[in-house]
Amino acid sequence: MSGRISRRAFLGTVAAAGAGTLVPGAAGAGQAKPQGWSGRERVERIATLCEMCFWRCGVLASVADGRLVRVEGNPDHPLNRGRLCARGNAGVDLVHDPDRLKYPMLRTGKRGEGQFKRVTWNEALDYLAGRLKDLREKHGPESVAFFPHGIHARFFGTLMKAYGTPNSAEPSFAQCRGPRDVGYQLTFGSGLGSPEPVDLAETKLVVLIGSHIGENVFTSQVQAFAEGLGKGAKLIAVDPRFSTAASKADWWLPIKPGTDIALLLAWMNVLIAENLCDAEYLKQHANGFDALAAHVREFTPEWAAAITDIPADTIRETARAMGEAKPAVVVHPGRHTTWYGDDTQRARAMAILTALLGAWGRPGGIFLGTPIEQGSFEHPDFPESERGRADGAGTTFPLASEEGGVTNGLVDATLTGEPYPIKAWIVYGQNVLESIPQPLRTRQALEKLDLFVVVDVMPMEQIRYADLVLPEATYLERYDPPVFAATAKTPFVALRQPAIPPMHESKPGWWIAKELAHRLELDAFFPWASPDEHLARVVEPLGINMLELRNKGAIALPGRPYLEDRVAAGETLFETDSGRIELVSETLRGLGADPLPRYTPPAGPPEGFFRLLYGRAPVHSFARSENNRLLNGLMSENAVWMHTAPAKALGLKDGDKVVLENTDGHRSTPIRVHVTEGIRTDCVYMAHGFGNRSKAMHRAYGRGASDTSLMSKVAVDPLMGGTGMRVNFVRPVKPATS
Ligand code: SF4
Repeated sequence: MSGRISRRAFLGTVAAAGAGTLVPGAAGAGQAKPQGWSGRERVERIATLCEMCFWRCGVLASVADGRLVRVEGNPDHPLNRGRLCARGNAGVDLVHDPDRLKYPMLRTGKRGEGQFKRVTWNEALDYLAGRLKDLREKHGPESVAFFPHGIHARFFGTLMKAYGTPNSAEPSFAQCRGPRDVGYQLTFGSGLGSPEPVDLAETKLVVLIGSHIGENVFTSQVQAFAEGLGKGAKLIAVDPRFSTAASKADWWLPIKPGTDIALLLAWMNVLIAENLCDAEYLKQHANGFDALAAHVREFTPEWAAAITDIPADTIRETARAMGEAKPAVVVHPGRHTTWYGDDTQRARAMAILTALLGAWGRPGGIFLGTPIEQGSFEHPDFPESERGRADGAGTTFPLASEEGGVTNGLVDATLTGEPYPIKAWIVYGQNVLESIPQPLRTRQALEKLDLFVVVDVMPMEQIRYADLVLPEATYLERYDPPVFAATAKTPFVALRQPAIPPMHESKPGWWIAKELAHRLELDAFFPWASPDEHLARVVEPLGINMLELRNKGAIALPGRPYLEDRVAAGETLFETDSGRIELVSETLRGLGADPLPRYTPPAGPPEGFFRLLYGRAPVHSFARSENNRLLNGLMSENAVWMHTAPAKALGLKDGDKVVLENTDGHRSTPIRVHVTEGIRTDCVYMAHGFGNRSKAMHRAYGRGASDTSLMSKVAVDPLMGGTGMRVNFVRPVKPATS
């Protein structure tokens, strides 16, 4: 399968998607027929889960005479209800991507040269088991660090724990949603999880702070957002850029980047001063209201206007709109929340605003997760490390989650040898040169390692540094641990199961972990013979029909989404120390941090530079989908947004190509300029994930520019270790002078 596909042709294929379970000749009259599908075959549809991003929508994979030919939405899945985004529809081309990793490879040249020889799985796993045994003996099991991403890495995660290393860290914590979950946990006693529990379909008002739904596409969330707006919900979009969401907004607040906490404090000031809070809810459930009121008294709209560039009248008007709509207000907690290093405090401010509106656990606000009981297997205790973690979770960063870990803490430990040397990395399902900022440091760490192993589907740039590359089967070719979606409004259990056997010599993650466990004499931690047996045990407490789960792909469970449901069930409402909402955080006070959020101005751009903002493209996921034939056809490169005035002053026209240079002299690959009135004059914006540097990915290589390559600085959140990345400044340089 090669060549580009036009947007019209792609959408035609997408529109042709139907539904059913076993459909002879499903590509009937009037429907587009995917390549390799004549329409006369017997077509089987297998219900499974998308993994083109981490939202895990339900899909039906159509297999015609053994060949995967189409992926479409599963109407029985409670999350996405039959709909998929462009990426979900394009999943079929991940399976058939000719650039896929096809067999295990062992390095032959120098590290960084990308020279490999093909080896068998036995050779690869024997080699890895031997190296891991050696490392454990010479440096202790903690010397091996694990960088997973996604549910498919969980079996390998069990193996790493059994091996004895506590050093596991995912970018989804320290580079994404960690501060948010910590901030809400401190306030309400529980984090938010994924999918975000936002009651968008029932709300009266949505407040988006730097969250660009529509460009950031999660199928069910976009559906609920559209449904809510369709039913008359109002929208406040706080964004330095006129995003897709801003274009639908009743109020677009083009805020000065980095001043969000000032705006949030001023909103609290108005709500309290004008008696617009949900007083009854606060009396019943919250601690610290008087202290909060005293704290925000000085943070008037006039004070915030001078900081944020948002007029005081607009701040008052939007606060009053929240007061009127309460408690049915979604202050969207966002997802990628590592911006300026004070991110836990910004999340706290958003959580406190939510509490003032009485919106936590109320219809149209933030709904509550419903715990789902899971079965387990008996196995020996995981070994306890005497040396503790090397990433600072729980020590340097007291509120970092041990489950999420601090990726950048592991990079630091690898470079410094402190608190003890890290000798090996196993990276699973992510590209650390794009997922972690300061890629130069990451590269230096990779060069220092004794062992670097990559388990992945595609040959990302990082494999150049790898000693061993293991090709994992795609999500359409494997079993993964089932998904227990406790934070969905309708909770559910869902199954990822193979539609086709793994292509080439790729293998599913469960098999890789189990085979390696056997070689490391850790079989006792995998006391199941097959994924079937594993599945049956972990869903056993739910008493569900396994055949129904296999056929439908997901089974909805009863939910208790609102506080009143918890009251009726006699459950704890807030799992904080006080058992109430903590507007003032005694935990933070105990750590010597501000118990109430406070605004601290971030450094502004030096003369001639612009703050670098970044975000998502609706048809791509991180840096991992740009090689997909269909998605590359829709968007093959990114552009840098720049306001008309500075563009004119610099002599730049729409479509010109520039190189971006940051204040440390790091330069991007060439990128087109998108000249627009839809962004402030002090910042530029680009979609994340482009500027691919892997020559083995033929479509993506060299297209557009990488925002990560320009992130040589970070502002680390002292509470949870997250890397604030909106602290880099760039200026355009004409490619001719690069
Ligand atoms: S949002 Fe799109 S890419 Fe993500 S899981 Fe759903 S369909 Fe797949």
